[in-house]
Amino acid sequence: MKFDAVYYEPAIFDYPLGRQLREEYRDLPWIPIESHNSIREMQEKPNDQFGHMKRNLIAGIRKTHKYVENHKVSDYLVPYTSSGCTAMCLYCYLVCNYNKCAYLRLFVNREQMLDRIIKKGKNSGTPLTFEIGSNSDLVLENTITGNLLYTIPRFAEEGEGKLTFPTKFHMVEPLLDLDHRGKVIFRMSVNPQPIIRKIELGTSGLKQRIEAVNQMCEAGYPCGLLIAPVILVEGWKEMYTGLLEELRDGLSDKMKSQMFLEIILMTYSYVHRAINSEAFPNAPDLYDREQMTGRGRGRYCYRAESREEAQLYLRQEIGRVLGNVPILYIS
Ligand code: SF4
Repeated sequence: MKFDAVYYEPAIFDYPLGRQLREEYRDLPWIPIESHNSIREMQEKPNDQFGHMKRNLIAGIRKTHKYVENHKVSDYLVPYTSSGCTAMCLYCYLVCNYNKCAYLRLFVNREQMLDRIIKKGKNSGTPLTFEIGSNSDLVLENTITGNLLYTIPRFAEEGEGKLTFPTKFHMVEPLLDLDHRGKVIFRMSVNPQPIIRKIELGTSGLKQRIEAVNQMCEAGYPCGLLIAPVILVEGWKEMYTGLLEELRDGLSDKMKSQMFLEIILMTYSYVHRAINSEAFPNAPDLYDREQMTGRGRGRYCYRAESREEAQLYLRQEIGRVLGNVPILYIS
């Protein structure tokens, strides 16, 4: 992956990953910063620079380690080795948190972060599942840092409970031979290819994602699929039925017999509208005045009637096309 520059906190060189990054990207300009949280030069850039801003790497040390309880596929959302991403999905939830500064930030103190997860798992009376990929895309990040190569075998050996992360990328080859002992749940996020092409800019195509999840399943990882986010654009019913048929035809028998589904309808926000209209003027406008309603703090979600219609349709079509696959939730 090509970057323009690395913005870095000088203390990153106290960590092995910081030194590894310096070696790997030594040909780029390195610009010292006080804190990865506030880079004035970036904050002052206009919205139309959003895509260009994502061509920088930001490297720092994660200081906040607050676990957030979660009751979907995991017990806790854990801030882990990165936040942000180099891709540009037009609805990316990270834009709500980081605004135009949703670029990829790498946190080099991975040893400390994994120590905490392992300790929390050991101290709990019951097995816990930790979601480590809610702030970024770890498969993409792994191509830069190798953090999954560090995390998976170490957690397999020392950790109790499970780790899990979702992805929209296919670069799983380096993960296939790792010693994971079934303790890492891999979740592939899918959408119809026309939506990937026009809206999930810079991510892997549907066919590559299907192939990747088949490979991970074959390698013994417990695997699931996220149909997320479901976007109710014109022709959505045909598109999502088409997606289910592609899954039926492309997923391996092993994957189909053991997988689970999570389904999430898209939410959007005022911030997305502002950034996307300037940074991607030719992209589809995802704000649908007819179907969406406010849900506080400048966020929008689909109205109750549209949500119910989508839920009903998807449940019926999943049953018809994929059979009795467990649907963990539709939200
Ligand atoms: Fe955001 Fe995930 Fe898309 Fe990256 S791949 S832009 S983290 S939604």
